[in-house]
Amino acid sequence: MKYVIIGGDAAGMSAAMQIVRNDEEADVTTLEMGDTYSYAQCGLPYAISGTIPDMDKLIARPVEVFREKYGIDARIYHKVTKVDPETKTVYGIALKTNEALQITYDRLLIATGARPIVPNWNGTELKGVHTLKTINDAKEIVESAKEAKRVTVIGGGYIGLEMAETFHDLGKEVRIIQRGSQLANTFDPDMASHILDEAERNGIAVHLEETVTSLNGSNFVESVETDKNTYETDLVLIAIGVMPNTDFIDHTDMHKGVKNTILVNRYMETSIKDIYAAGDCATQYNRLKKRDEFVPLGTHANKQGRIAGLNMIGKTRIFQGIVGTAILKFCTLALGRTGLTEHEAKVLNIPYETTSLKATDIAGYYPGKERLYVKLLYHTNTKQVLGGQFIGKDGVAKRTDVLATALYHGMTIHELEDLDLSYAPPFNSVWDPIQQGARRSK
Ligand SMILES: Cc1cc2nc3c(=O)[nH]c(=O)nc-3n(C[C@H](O)[C@H](O)[C@H](O)COP(=O)(O)OP(=O)(O)OC[C@H]3O[C@@H](n4cnc5c(N)ncnc54)[C@H](O)[C@@H]3O)c2cc1C
Repeated sequence: MKYVIIGGDAAGMSAAMQIVRNDEEADVTTLEMGDTYSYAQCGLPYAISGTIPDMDKLIARPVEVFREKYGIDARIYHKVTKVDPETKTVYGIALKTNEALQITYDRLLIATGARPIVPNWNGTELKGVHTLKTINDAKEIVESAKEAKRVTVIGGGYIGLEMAETFHDLGKEVRIIQRGSQLANTFDPDMASHILDEAERNGIAVHLEETVTSLNGSNFVESVETDKNTYETDLVLIAIGVMPNTDFIDHTDMHKGVKNTILVNRYMETSIKDIYAAGDCATQYNRLKKRDEFVPLGTHANKQGRIAGLNMIGKTRIFQGIVGTAILKFCTLALGRTGLTEHEAKVLNIPYETTSLKATDIAGYYPGKERLYVKLLYHTNTKQVLGGQFIGKDGVAKRTDVLATALYHGMTIHELEDLDLSYAPPFNSVWDPIQQGARRSK
């Protein structure tokens, strides 16, 4: 069986590894338009800050390993431009030689990920204006940052916040410009206010409800113009979101999902026979909302890729769906969320109650305790847990993951009280903050 995979990162290579591990006869070709396979984009902010001293450490497996150890025909600088489902042929170009590429498949996986959105502003081509996606992007940011004093981060989402912290750690004067009314809009406004406080504590300027209109400069970027002001700057990072790389299938009948993703079912099959899709270019089924979404995260890409690979070789596996779990670090804080926010519950017309508290991450009397802000959402009638948000210096990941597990299993807020969670004073209060929140529910 001849398998072709487009995209050589998280989703694509998770699938490739399942195929070669489970089917000794498999003939696997992977086509990657860049020069690097299987690298951790999630680590890029920390490689730029120097926390991870060697960027190559982000590469999980170099392309030679895929070729020599696993027998995959893993190609670099091979860009796919068209797929013909009738003849089961992939077309493209070998970017280094300009040679045309034409390769047939029995089963095809599209794992082309997503790319940063760059709006149509004047000045995006200026030197010192960056987006962050690849190791090469990170190296260019490191170069620009050497000379820069003032840095503007456009976008206050996950990547914007992580990079604002990075630039702050590098001793830059950092400004975040955010079109919306809060940072991290996947949190409720009351919780997001703690993120704003943290930015202020660290001297990071935040401009909310401001829209960038252009980037100015002659050769290098010199200022950012918004609908309210102009800010001098030496470096700009545009981090306002990503869009799926799916243009090359536009001429086919393949069904698209939200935001131009490829619509997949829970076997990672597209609407065209023998073509699968996974990761940031595909939809993710949200088991709470019972609908498909676009939530481009590495955790989903790895799972979906693995499941796609298994289904491609005939081992039936179902993608069980996401519940909206995410975590990130911003300066001294960890920000964790899972499930629905109030806004999402309202959009879905779900009647809900909330319970919020200011807890401590470990026993209140134990040295080194840190504040932990907790917010839980649950269904007014059924009492089913709908979501939770956690912000603090420590203990956030643990609570986020306990709640994510509860959400996966459809537990009620009262059942949270019954969970047998670990306790000793250096690690927790006798009632975990989640249980403290649950006990305050109606
Ligand atoms: C700075 C940063 C921080 C992040 N932090 C986190 C985090 O903390 N947690 C988390 O869960 N996620 C995080 N993510 C997101 C995560 O990295 C992505 O969700 C994940 O990489 C998606 O994997 P993928 O394989 O679907 O797509 P990608 O990683 O985008 O890989 C797709 C590959 O396909 C190639 N390709 C595209 N089009 C073509 C074509 N036409 N022909 C050939 N090749 C093509 C691309 O070059 C690319 O290598 C972060 C992302 C960034 C950029």
